[in-house]
Amino acid sequence: MPSKKYSQHLCVYCRAKHSTPTADHIFAREFFLIPDRGSLPKAPCCGECGAEKSKDEHYLTAVLPFGGLHSGARENLTTMVPKRLARNKKLHQELAVGMRISEVGKPTVVPLDTSRLERLFERITVGLVWHHWECYLPATHRVEAALLSPHGEAFFDSLFAMPPKERAFANLGNGTIEYAGARSHGEETFSIWRYRVYGGLQMTGDIDAPNVTSHGIGCMTASNGFFERNPFKSHVR
Ligand SMILES: [Zn+2]
Repeated sequence: MPSKKYSQHLCVYCRAKHSTPTADHIFAREFFLIPDRGSLPKAPCCGECGAEKSKDEHYLTAVLPFGGLHSGARENLTTMVPKRLARNKKLHQELAVGMRISEVGKPTVVPLDTSRLERLFERITVGLVWHHWECYLPATHRVEAALLSPHGEAFFDSLFAMPPKERAFANLGNGTIEYAGARSHGEETFSIWRYRVYGGLQMTGDIDAPNVTSHGIGCMTASNGFFERNPFKSHVR
């Protein structure tokens, strides 16, 4: 585990500036109920990258509890989300438009900007690669995230069944967020990650087909060339 004096380390996200002394909670504390916020993983992070990341965190900690299957999501929704929405009028209006759909007899559907979800989990993955393996992603590499379709889940099952060099697991906040990561023998900066948020999210892009759901989020770190040869997002979505 790296030294916890974060300001000695470069920011994991830009790799250019030094971290603030307080660093970054890789998973925003607001995803968790208050008793579950102790000892969450952190990574070195500069002020600018922390501010950028927190924009997506404010959005997603208000929206994702609507789709959660976990009891913590329901409690978060009733106790904490109303305060977040009161502070964010624009988001409140956006969700209210989606919520009206539930009044005509369909399941509660709120609009989700999946590009923001994927961007946040790309940053989370960069943080976890450092947290578990003291590794910065080199400039020749990148991370891609995608909401996993059933086909994508099966593809990730097959990737996780391959013998890895190292694995990482955590269950944070009694199932509020669970993740698994693995990296290969051949290339240390090649890694795969799968996340379950709030016990799996009921997510669908089509309100007329609510049974087509995506429960997990998959991420991969690899060289830019690898992604050019193997389009990840289109393969697993
Ligand atoms: Zn930075």
